[in-house]
Amino acid sequence: MPLLVMKFGGTSVADLTRIKNAAQKVKREIERGYDVIVIVSAMSGKTNELVGWVEETSPLFDAREYDAIVSSGENVTAGLMALTLQEMDVPARSWQGWQVPINTTATHSSARFTSIERANIDAKFSEGFKVAVVAGFQGLSPEGRITTLGRGGSDTTAVAFSAAFQAERCDIYTDVDGIYTTDPRISKKARKLDRIAFEEMLELASLGAKVLQTRSVELAMRFKVRLRVLSSFEDTDENSGTLVCDEEEIMESKVVSGVAYSRDEAKLTLVTVEDRPGIAAAIFGPLAKAGINVDMIVQNISELQEADKTRAVTDMTFSCPTSQVARARKALEEAAAQGHIKYDTLVEDNDVAKVSVVGIGMRSHTGVAARMFSALSAENVNIKVISTSEIKISVLIDRKYMELAVQALHDAFELDKVS
Ligand code: ASP
Ligand code: MG
Repeated sequence: MPLLVMKFGGTSVADLTRIKNAAQKVKREIERGYDVIVIVSAMSGKTNELVGWVEETSPLFDAREYDAIVSSGENVTAGLMALTLQEMDVPARSWQGWQVPINTTATHSSARFTSIERANIDAKFSEGFKVAVVAGFQGLSPEGRITTLGRGGSDTTAVAFSAAFQAERCDIYTDVDGIYTTDPRISKKARKLDRIAFEEMLELASLGAKVLQTRSVELAMRFKVRLRVLSSFEDTDENSGTLVCDEEEIMESKVVSGVAYSRDEAKLTLVTVEDRPGIAAAIFGPLAKAGINVDMIVQNISELQEADKTRAVTDMTFSCPTSQVARARKALEEAAAQGHIKYDTLVEDNDVAKVSVVGIGMRSHTGVAARMFSALSAENVNIKVISTSEIKISVLIDRKYMELAVQALHDAFELDKVS
């Protein structure tokens, strides 16, 4: 039997009517001849409520109990989905992570898959069950405790099952109808993409296009799982939504596929640090230890120090999320107090945003950066930091120009046009 994985996110199973609607979509695939593994999230809002209860009960909570509690939302939806399917005469049963079992590492609240054992579910399929409903977001640690995979982790469960069971496709049903060239709330000209390459999706996901958990895209890319993002609130067919797939499957080739942004960025500059071997390691080592997600890094050309003409100095600039600025400052101050680094001042700019253009076409086209910069200059947007990778160019700009910059770049690369 060909097999499909169908994942329903929180808003798609938010109440009994929606669960019924999702079950109908499952039934239709059964009628088309598929066996189906359904992965469910908790009803929308449920996980937040459970996290709130944990934090209210115990501020420095035991992570194992956090996982035991927070994973329970998915158990409820898995059972309800199985019951709903049974009511529609579809033979189905629910599976919690430990029953499969889904083995993970012991890193509670951000566990990673180690293996998914197929035998139990395979046996049920051969007994005539058509659907295995699996609770997303959870697994079993080597110690036999319940683990969770990090917020949004059900996407990753769905991809992992698709790889383990060699599913024909992994359909992610959600509250949007696909992946767009940019955020439709920012540009009215945003267009839904029919297809997008894994690598592009990975950049967009990590830049805050929150439709898919980043890790699920990494896993899909590694195991070449074809992912489809589509709406659970519309009538859908084989062509609905956006297919996230290998770049070889993509015909329409644009230089740039999307414009992404990240609103809450901060730019920090260490003014006058010594320019010597090991200085970058001495700065970014403590930041890494403090768990700071450093993104862009710029080191200025070095110059000789005014006071002592034999010593070279430089400025070091980096960006990180605004929520981590206080922690970054503390880590740097401690490194200075311990004598590992020396600097005059730490200049913080908390009002910047990052805007990026992403596209695999950049590998084979020149002039993308020039086109991007001239579009920004035409709008009088000043660029503070630039960074590039093989398929992405990012700029840091004043936050108040973020929407304007996204719109200007969407226009400049004609992303509203199909090809
Ligand atoms: N329910 C979990 C969350 O809200 C996992 C998921 O929905 O993907 O993060
Ligand atoms: Mg999600």
